[in-house]
Amino acid sequence: MTNEWIVMRQRHPMAGFTLSELMIVVMIFGLLVVISIPAGRRARRFAQLNACKNNLRQIVGASELWALSERRGEGDPFTWEDILPYLQRKPICPAGGDYIGFEYHVPPTVTCTVHDWRRDPALAGWIP
Ligand SMILES: [Zn+2]
Repeated sequence: MTNEWIVMRQRHPMAGFTLSELMIVVMIFGLLVVISIPAGRRARRFAQLNACKNNLRQIVGASELWALSERRGEGDPFTWEDILPYLQRKPICPAGGDYIGFEYHVPPTVTCTVHDWRRDPALAGWIP
């Protein structure tokens, strides 16, 4: 801070901010916004991945219960109607994907059209 600025503040304590002071504040605020947007997108994508991973676990768990109770085996196809009695509610992908690969297999083949665990290493760890 310059001496003139300090003197001006002492003489006129109620004086407003200068244009350059306001510009610096606006610049810092803009920089913070620009930094926080990508972090927010990453957090959102991570939350959606985890929700989808949990949905896949529920679907596979329900398909295993269905296969046990209906005495089904490897490669048998199943539908939502078959496994809905073993789920509290129908899982919905938070990113709008559809769940596909409804055949009973060990390891499971069920996946999401948006979060395909066969192509996405971030989802690969969900397999029970
Ligand atoms: Zn998904």
